[in-house]
Amino acid sequence: MVLTEPRRLEARDIPIPELTDDTALLRVEACGICGSDAEQYEGVLRTPTPVIPGHEPLGIIEQIGDTAARRWGVDVGDRVAVETLLACRCCEPCLSGSYQLCRKRRIYSYIPLETPPGLWGAYAQYMHLDADSIVHKVDRSLSAQVAVMFNPLGAGFRWGVEIPETRPGDTVVILGPGQRGLSCVLACREAGAGRIVVTGLEADAKKLALARSFGADATVDVDNENVKTRVREIVDGDGADIVIDVSAYATQPVADALDLVRPGGTIVLAGVKGFQPIPGFVSDKLVLKEIVIKGAIGVTSSGYRSAIRMLESGRSPIAEMHTHDFGLEEADLAIRTLARRVPGDESIHSCLIPGRH
Ligand SMILES: [Zn+2]
Ligand SMILES: [Zn+2]
Repeated sequence: MVLTEPRRLEARDIPIPELTDDTALLRVEACGICGSDAEQYEGVLRTPTPVIPGHEPLGIIEQIGDTAARRWGVDVGDRVAVETLLACRCCEPCLSGSYQLCRKRRIYSYIPLETPPGLWGAYAQYMHLDADSIVHKVDRSLSAQVAVMFNPLGAGFRWGVEIPETRPGDTVVILGPGQRGLSCVLACREAGAGRIVVTGLEADAKKLALARSFGADATVDVDNENVKTRVREIVDGDGADIVIDVSAYATQPVADALDLVRPGGTIVLAGVKGFQPIPGFVSDKLVLKEIVIKGAIGVTSSGYRSAIRMLESGRSPIAEMHTHDFGLEEADLAIRTLARRVPGDESIHSCLIPGRH
């Protein structure tokens, strides 16, 4: 499925590329759908067109060159989760272990169709795996719908645990109950967090119920309850050790986070706001409480590995947040369902399954 211009996806036939020694061909089993898909579709990400979207690929190695097989440690028939980022592995950030900040960073699904071999996204039956790919083996006994959750759950581990350095007993407030907020609940529980509170809108009632069943001690409906008062009641003491914002576009949670976190606590900002300034952001609170604020862009290997281990353990209830499968031709419907534009229906985690109609 090719995004030819904002809001226009069309099916096209694209030839399967010749394999080189350091690349591979992936047969896509599932492609996860998230808020970035909606942003790319709407044109707000300003990614080039025409382009094949789909940045959360899970699939089977169909063909692989010898060098790629040796470097990645995988072979034909292996199921792999593919990282979204392509990093050069040579620049300063790459060499210092921060490959998510690679100076030559490329992102699958943002590389235009005209860049050979064109198959750069997972809204397709097959996808080209570039020499710079980072892949992780995943047990083939998991369903594709669950295995493809390596992506949101990886974010749960990186944003909810790795970046804020969550320790056993820490109180955590998660602002936003989408698939990444819910994944943060699971990851923080796994890390031994103490009390976990999740906030959301009145319209998020189903997601907040899921948050409680995933291990959140309490949820707050920000449309009908006072967030600060409620969180104070639940967390007591000086505030939360860690506050994680995973809400999309809403700016109020960022301003609220300064009041919800305890002195010396950490705030992680992972939800993008379309470059809007934050009204009510009082920097003095940061100074007086010595708050640490960290930004989080994407997920790195350690987060994905933790996620895959958790999925493979079979102990996680995460499958409960999977709500929809769509065929490739339904990509447009998948995005509108996620973005609450289909009356009476809404997805939490959903994916495209090539071959499903
Ligand atoms: Zn995504
Ligand atoms: Zn680099």
